[in-house]
Parts: sequence; structure tokens; C-alpha cells
Amino acid sequence: MSIFHDLRLPAILLCAGLLTSCSQASTAAVSRDLFAMDTYMQLQAYGPEKALDEAEARIQELEQDFSVTRPDSSISRINAAAGVPVTVEEDTVKLLHAALAMGKESGGALDITLYPLLAEWGFTKEEKHVPPPQTIAALLDKVDYAAVSVTDDTVQLPAGMMLDLGAAAKGYTGDAVMEIFRENGIASAVISLGGNVQTLGRKPDGTLWKVGITDPFSPSETCCTIEVENKAVITSGTYERYFEEDGQRWWHILDPADGYPADNGLISVTVIGDSGTECDLLSTALFVEGTEKAAEHWREREDFEMICVTEDGKLLVTEGIADSFTNQSAMPMEVLTRE
Ligand code: AMP
Ligand code: MG
Repeated sequence: MSIFHDLRLPAILLCAGLLTSCSQASTAAVSRDLFAMDTYMQLQAYGPEKALDEAEARIQELEQDFSVTRPDSSISRINAAAGVPVTVEEDTVKLLHAALAMGKESGGALDITLYPLLAEWGFTKEEKHVPPPQTIAALLDKVDYAAVSVTDDTVQLPAGMMLDLGAAAKGYTGDAVMEIFRENGIASAVISLGGNVQTLGRKPDGTLWKVGITDPFSPSETCCTIEVENKAVITSGTYERYFEEDGQRWWHILDPADGYPADNGLISVTVIGDSGTECDLLSTALFVEGTEKAAEHWREREDFEMICVTEDGKLLVTEGIADSFTNQSAMPMEVLTRE
């Protein structure tokens, strides 16, 4: 199993519904289902079939770059280099720069050097367990995104440290697919990469894309919908990958502050914005930051909106999307404002 998430059934059904409804609107729809990055992906576009062939090839190319479990990937080559500089291709350089910048912006909440800890928890394999506190403390010494150096096309990582781009690989991949669609003259498309939805333009009938957000308390259902055009809608949540031990749930997003699953008041964060890469980085960072810091972080930036579900069952929705948001749940909703 790799770092990439499983696409849970509800997200498949949700997107399948979404794709079925839009395919009725036009005769020129082409679609493809595939499995890559350890997750189910669905692509639908109003344009030539060859765009899907190119998109699929690009997804496979990026998986080959970013996978932490394939021994010959760019990331694995860096992780195995024991401190020796490694030359990598442009996509890895770009995503590393974006991820390191988000590390800084989030005060270390997002840290792409968490991999030794994630591996010890077992989130990359079948056997998961709660590590002893002293093991967590020892592995935390190997976590520090600021120690990663990227110069031109060369990456250097201190020996013993390891990288993992699982927090943003799918967002970056979604951006790359959208670029291919645009190059092919496509004006209307929707993709779901393991539940991360990205849209191009509007539906062919001119209406907005309606994207359902998984209810983290009941992942077979949606708790709300959002109407968008040209946007990425990307979620990080406790329900995506977890195990239970000692009567507690332990999930796959760790807090670099203590090495345990991030537990700062949120159980799901959805980020809506133009760039899939940024939305994916933000969804993970904001999840770790927790309720108050996530709201502050949103106020500091002007270029994204978010929907948070708190562990005590509230929906927090930022004002920029409040009008295009529909609450389908019994949870009370609060609108976050810039003041
Ligand atoms: P996402 O679903 O986008 O929030 O990404 C979660 C994935 O990112 C996990 O499966 C890990 O591979 C990785 N990860 C977990 N915690 C962090 C963190 N605090 N910073 C960076 N990556 C993380
Ligand atoms: Mg993410």
C-alpha cells in the first residue's frame, strides 16, 4: 500500500451520481475510471478521447515521481540517498517548493518529513499500531521540513530523514490533468481523484458543478453541497484512513508538534480554491492547525474558502462560499467572517 488514500465508497457513489447527471447534458462527454496512486480516479470531460489518454499517462508519470512506496520513484531515490544530493525532474521540484512554503506558512503544521513516523504508525501498510511514546519521541527528531534543501533540480535531505508528498500529490496531479484538458481545448470537465474533486468551467448546460462533501460522522452520506466553477474542492478528514486501538480512533494525519494524530477540534476540512496543489496542501495544514488557527489562516489569505466540520458537530463555512453552500445535515452551521 502506498501513501495515497483509498477512495471510500461514498465518494465513488457521490461522484458517479455527479457524472451521470452531467453526461445527460451533452453528447460529447468522454469518461474514464482508473486506479492510480492507490486510489480510484474518475475523469469526465467534454472533448476528445485523446485528452483522457494523455491525462492517464500523465497521472502514471506523476505516480512514478511521487510514490513513497515504489522503490524507483523520485521520492524514494531521495529517501534512500542517505544525505547525498539527488537530481529529480521538474514536477517533484515544483511540488517540493510548494510543500516547503506551506510548511513555513503553517508554522510546521504541514511537514513533508513526517514519513518515518507515519511508517512507524503503519499508515503505509496493513499492520497499524500505536507506537510507544519513546519511539514517537525518537522519530520526531527526524522531522523538520526546514532541513530539506532544494537547489535548481537537486534535492538534499539529511541522512535518516524521509519525505512523503501524500498530503498534496493528488492536488498537484489534478492541476496537471486540468492543464491537459485545457491544452485539448476542453471547456467543461470534472474529475475525482480519490474524492478530491476538481472542475473545469461549468457544466455544458451552463449551470455550476454541484459537489457533495462527505459527512465525516457518516461517510456513506454527504453533509452538504457546494456549487462551483473552475475550482478544486479538496477534503482532509479523519474518516479517510484510520484504525482503532484501545477503544480510540487513530487517523493518518499526524501533528508534527507531538507525533500523534492531529486532534485540534476538527474532523474534516474542505478547501475550495483555484489551485489543486494549494487546496490539498491547505486541507492537510488546516486540519492539523485546528479550529482557531485554521480560521486565522483563512483570514490571512484571500484566495481560498473552507468548510470545516468540528468534532463537536458544527459546520464552519467561510463567508465567500456561504451563498453557494447547502447544509444537508442536522449540524448547526456558522459563517466565518473576515473580521
Ligand atoms: P491529506 O488527505 O491530503 O490530508 O493527506 C494526508 C497524507 O499526508 C497522509 O496519508 C500522509 O501521507 C501525509 N501526512 C500526514 N500528516 C501530515 C502532516 N502533518 N504534514 C504533511 N503530510 C502529512
Ligand atoms: Mg491534503
